[in-house]
Amino acid sequence: MAFDWTDARIKRLTKLWLDGTKVATIRHEFGCSKGTITGKVKRLDLPRRPSPFANGPAPARKPVPPKRAPRTTLPSFGGPPQAASRTPPTPVLLSTKPCCWPIGEPRSKAFRFCDEPAVFAKPYCLEHSKQAYAKYHEVKEIDQRTEARPQNR
Ligand SMILES: [Zn+2]
Repeated sequence: MAFDWTDARIKRLTKLWLDGTKVATIRHEFGCSKGTITGKVKRLDLPRRPSPFANGPAPARKPVPPKRAPRTTLPSFGGPPQAASRTPPTPVLLSTKPCCWPIGEPRSKAFRFCDEPAVFAKPYCLEHSKQAYAKYHEVKEIDQRTEARPQNR
């Protein structure tokens, strides 16, 4: 049985078609087959609708400007090594072991160990290393190494 295309239906079809309504939606509203809709559209000579996949060229992506490499300070040969500017100041010369300098009277309740981070390869922290090692040059060396590292000179 042919679909009854009344003037009202043709008007409605034309409007829906030009509005960009999907054929499936129009077909559902009219209660007919998809072929009936597309056939009528062809006979009415309605304009072809652009494919949903051909909506013009995709927007061009913004070109990403090349990032400049951050300036790095190269260590100067002959002089003391300089820490790179991006390197966070880390106490590299401190060991993970705590200072074992005794504080207070042994056997008393107040007795404890210092527990400050010990200087690398030493059993004591910097302060107690100064007290423990009488050799002046050694203490001075520890001082210089510990103080020079965290700062950028
Ligand atoms: Zn200590």
